[in-house]
Amino acid sequence: MNKARVVLITGSSRGIGAATAVYFVRHGYDVCINYKTHLTKAEYVADRVRSYGVRAEIVRADVSQESDVNDLFSRIDKVFGRLDVLVNNAGVLKPQMTLLNMDAKRINELLTTNITSTFICSREAIKRMLPGSSIVNVSSVAAKTGSPNEYIDYAATKGAIDTLTTGLAKEVACKGVRVNCVRPGLIYTDMHTDGGEEGRVERLKSNLPLRRGGQPEEVAAAIYFLASHSASFTTGTFIDVAGGL
Ligand code: NAP
Repeated sequence: MNKARVVLITGSSRGIGAATAVYFVRHGYDVCINYKTHLTKAEYVADRVRSYGVRAEIVRADVSQESDVNDLFSRIDKVFGRLDVLVNNAGVLKPQMTLLNMDAKRINELLTTNITSTFICSREAIKRMLPGSSIVNVSSVAAKTGSPNEYIDYAATKGAIDTLTTGLAKEVACKGVRVNCVRPGLIYTDMHTDGGEEGRVERLKSNLPLRRGGQPEEVAAAIYFLASHSASFTTGTFIDVAGGL
């Protein structure tokens, strides 16, 4: 079995996931870096974390697909032989529109990528986790605001992640496994380009009480805290990393 603690971060080729990988390795973790499309970006993150002297394994897997998830966890078994922390971070949003323009294809893609992935990755992690392990889900403040006129489908997937966090935390507490959640808002990443508005954080930041956008590293710090021993009596809870929204 691997001597160092091991973290799997889904969607860690860029953005919040990549920053979280760096944060964990700075605290001595070995890391499994997962991506779906951008191998070159995943390799860049792996090179960066290996400079800290840790083991980093890159695994391509579409975490909305059960067979890919099963292969991903088999690879973790083979390479590391343990899993201490799962960060369910992979997520997508689609171009901004109202409900009247949304079709079922778009909605179903969001449901499987943002929700199904979190269920099946958590299932595989819990099969392997020992007491003291933990899961951190990445939701969004959109779960509370509902994102009207932009993407209520995305917001609803994050509402589901919040409910999953609450239920699963109670379900696995008896195994000594903790389940918590962060809810970021307006963080500088590529995700807003995928939503059709590259400058979204700049446009909206003055609405936040802190009057600025957030950095991926600020979300990574909250994720690490919830996974760490410092939060050992904390489960089923949420940290909003959203500038006061
Ligand atoms: P991002 O920069 O767009 O990165 C998304 C990551 O998810 C990439 O590594 C991507 O891999 C991966 N991914 C997407 N679909 C995948 C799939 N089916 N299987 C495996 N990996 C997949 O996004 P981000 O802003 O860092 O967001 C990370 C999380 O934070 C998401 O859950 C998002 O909803 C949440 N969040 C973000 C914000 C924000 O303001 N940025 C606010 C609230 C919540 P590839 O690189 O290979 O495509």
